[in-house]
Amino acid sequence: MLPFARVGIIGMGLIGASLARAVRARLPTVRLTVHDADAGVRERVRALDLADDVTDTAAACVIDADLVILCVPVRAMGAAAAEIADDLSAGCVVSDVGSVKASVLADLTAALPPSVHIVPAHPVAGTEKSGPDAGFATLFDGRWCILTPGPDADATAVARVTEFWTRLGANVETMDPAHHDLVLAVTSHLPHLIAYTIVGTASDLESVTRSEVIKYSAGGFRDFTRIAASDPTMWRDVFLSNKDAVLDVLQRFSEDLSALQRAIRWGDGDYLHALFTRTRAVRRTIIDAGQDTAADDFGRPHA
Ligand code: NAP
Repeated sequence: MLPFARVGIIGMGLIGASLARAVRARLPTVRLTVHDADAGVRERVRALDLADDVTDTAAACVIDADLVILCVPVRAMGAAAAEIADDLSAGCVVSDVGSVKASVLADLTAALPPSVHIVPAHPVAGTEKSGPDAGFATLFDGRWCILTPGPDADATAVARVTEFWTRLGANVETMDPAHHDLVLAVTSHLPHLIAYTIVGTASDLESVTRSEVIKYSAGGFRDFTRIAASDPTMWRDVFLSNKDAVLDVLQRFSEDLSALQRAIRWGDGDYLHALFTRTRAVRRTIIDAGQDTAADDFGRPHA
C-alpha cells in the first residue's frame, strides 16, 4: 500500500528536486505539490515539469498533504515550518532532509501544532551541486536515510516514512538525533571543514604558485575541491547548528594531526606506515559496503 497519497515538498534545490524526481519515478500515483521561496526556482521547476503543482506560497503547498518534507537549509527549517503551521491537516506527517538533526527536531517541535506528526530524516546522499537542475531521481539509491524521531513520535508515522524512503531506493535506519549529529560530524562535517581549509589555504598562496596548484591538482588537491565546492549557505548552517559535536571532533582531529606532525619531525616512519595501512583498509570497507565505486580514481575515465 502507498505510504502517502499527497506529498508536499518545500525547497526545490538539489535535494528537493531529487526527491520530486524520485517520487515521480518510483511512486507515480502520488499527487506531488512543491514550493520554493525563490520565484526563479519555481519557474525552473515548472519548466522541468517536476511536480503536479508548483505553488507560489508555502501554505498552498501543504493544504491536504499527508506528507510534507522541508528541503531548505537547516537554519531555515523553523521559519519554513512556521509558514505552514496553520495550514497543515491534522494527522499530517512533517519531515525534512536537513543534515543536522537535534536543532531541526527542536525547531520543528516549537513551530508546528501537536496535531501533526514530526519525523525528521536525513538522506545521506548528495553532491556538491545546488538548485533544481542538479537533482536526479537515483540520488538515494542504495544510500542510507537516517530517521531521528523524538521519544514520543507516533510509531505509525515513523513506519510510513520508513516505507516512503524504502520505496525511493534508500536503506532506512532510525537513530537518536544527538547521536546522528555526532556520527555525521565525523563522516561528513569534519571532511567538509578540512576540504574548505585546504582549498582556502591554497587559494591564499601568491598567484604564480596558485596557477601551479591548479595545473598539478590531480596530485590529490582536486578531490578536496569537489567537496569544497559545496553550497555555502547549506554548510554555514550545518556548522552553526552542529557546533558542539563539530568542535569535539575537531579537537580530536587536531590532536591526531599534532601526532602526525611529531612523527614526521622525529622521522617515525613506522608510525606513518601503520596509520596509512589502517586508513587504506577503511577505504576497502566502504567499497565492500557498496557506498562507493571500486573503480580506480573514483571511476574517472582515462584514455
Ligand atoms: P539548495 O540546492 O541550496 O536548495 C535549497 C532551496 O530551498 C533553495 O532554492 C532555497 O531558495 C530554498 N529555500 C530556502 N529557504 C526557504 C523557505 N523558507 N521556503 C521555501 N524555500 C526555501 O540546497 P540542498 O542542497 O537541496 O539542501 C537542502 C537541505 O538538504 C539542507 O537542509 C541540507 O542540509 C540537506 N542535505 C543536503 C545534501 C547535499 O549534499 N546537498 C545532502 C543531504 C541533505 P534560495 O536559494 O532563494 O534561498
